[in-house]
Amino acid sequence: MKHQFVIIGGGIHGCAAAWMLADAGEDVLLLEAGETASGASGGFGRRGVRGNRRDLRELPLMRAAYRLWPTLSERLGADTGYERTGGLNLIEQEATGTKGGLVAAQAHADVQNRNGVPTEVLTRDRVLALEPAVGAEVRGALYCPFDGTADHGAATAAFAAAARARGAAVEEYSPVTGVEVAGGRATAVTTPDGRRYEIGQALLILNNTAAPDLLREHFGVSLPVWRILPQALRVVPQSGPPMRHLIGHDHRSLSLKPLPDGGVMVSGGWRGRWNAELDRGETVEANVHGNLRAAAEVYADLSDAELDLADAARPESCSADEIPVIDRVPGTANALVGTGWTGHGFAIAPAVAEALAFWARTGARPESLAPFSATRF
Ligand SMILES: Cc1cc2nc3c(=O)[nH]c(=O)nc-3n(C[C@H](O)[C@H](O)[C@H](O)COP(=O)(O)OP(=O)(O)OC[C@H]3O[C@@H](n4cnc5c(N)ncnc54)[C@H](O)[C@@H]3O)c2cc1C
Repeated sequence: MKHQFVIIGGGIHGCAAAWMLADAGEDVLLLEAGETASGASGGFGRRGVRGNRRDLRELPLMRAAYRLWPTLSERLGADTGYERTGGLNLIEQEATGTKGGLVAAQAHADVQNRNGVPTEVLTRDRVLALEPAVGAEVRGALYCPFDGTADHGAATAAFAAAARARGAAVEEYSPVTGVEVAGGRATAVTTPDGRRYEIGQALLILNNTAAPDLLREHFGVSLPVWRILPQALRVVPQSGPPMRHLIGHDHRSLSLKPLPDGGVMVSGGWRGRWNAELDRGETVEANVHGNLRAAAEVYADLSDAELDLADAARPESCSADEIPVIDRVPGTANALVGTGWTGHGFAIAPAVAEALAFWARTGARPESLAPFSATRF
């Protein structure tokens, strides 16, 4: 069998790229090892769609993502759960490290505004008008009215279904174990059950934490990218979510998202660990408690919320300079890779897919992807 575009990985990035290509009339095959959205793009809760305090090199992609997210449900014909709730990055300290605190707020707002992420510096009074239940220590915030959340599982499923509806083949339980490379081109991929798919135009390697090993094994390319296990908790406060917006924090490891069913997703930089016997990630009790404590210190109403879910089983790829690698695989003419999302790859996925589809079809790298080269290290 031959397809013009072959995609490895059925998370948000692979499914969005499949849709972008199929929507442009291209012949697409996506191969997913398990089920779509079974990796970092699945699980409970919501993902933040956030420009606030994002690495500056990602802001052009975020500006494109702000443009794409609001109409996606309509274009895909299925609900992505996207809501433009607005987002606050809460500030408690005068100065934190070299990058945070009240002293840095206006500078961050200015640079975000200049790069298409509308941002306001709020005093405590104005924070209270938006977030009445916030703790006494909060002295201000960076507010981004365009920030919000989406349902990652639903969004990934919506992309996959829309890609299929436009004629793409999306094959689940089809792990790619072989990649044939000849004359500097990826020519075919193979699966353990003996299937072989020839590649007409381009191969897109979008299998997140598995991409570095695949690149090493089949292309002899090594990336400074590794696996982390982000921790996510679901708590049920007695009187519903005390916050109304997507909440991040200037110096605490804390992210809070009100959920439509009255729960709150608590996360923000806490990690699980790998259990080699079970071959999966698991939570670390001290980190669960640390995350809950941080949440209750900012929103006292969360101190007696019931913990009903703790998960650290969804591996994510992390890069040495905390922004992704999105590039042509060095030494090849037609293989593109996206990995190393470093815990914030969901929000920009539609914009990355749009840019990658353009690159794969035309051979010209969009300017927005220039910072993410595989050789920058
Ligand atoms: C708990 C948690 C919270 C997060 N919060 C946010 C947030 O608030 N905002 C945000 O922007 N981002 C967030 N992220 C990060 C974001 O979810 C990820 O960056 C994004 O989902 C990565 O998508 P992906 O498609 O690259 O990877 P994945 O969803 O992991 O998909 C990769 C797929 O490739 C498949 N695969 C692997 N090897 C092969 C193979 N050989 N052949 C075929 N298929 C293969 C896997 O089965 C998997 O389904 C969070 C992540 C986690 C885990």
